[in-house]
Amino acid sequence: KLDIKPKTGSDCPIICAGCGEQVCDRFFLLAAGRVWHSICLRCSQCHCELQTHPSLFWRDGNIYCQQDYSRYK
Ligand SMILES: [Zn+2]
Ligand SMILES: [Zn+2]
Repeated sequence: KLDIKPKTGSDCPIICAGCGEQVCDRFFLLAAGRVWHSICLRCSQCHCELQTHPSLFWRDGNIYCQQDYSRYK
């Protein structure tokens, strides 16, 4: 499940689970219980931007698009 949340002042600082940097964007992505930059939430296999996808998948600390997840099942 992927949520896109508007950032509020009380959320600061937020650390991206992808790159470990602080998220300073106006919006952050909440996926797999972690916060991501929109550009950091990419499939670990094909590196497509998952923010444009309706679904994403999480396994063993890696994120996958639906296509790659079903391929490695
Ligand atoms: Zn990041
Ligand atoms: Zn992929």
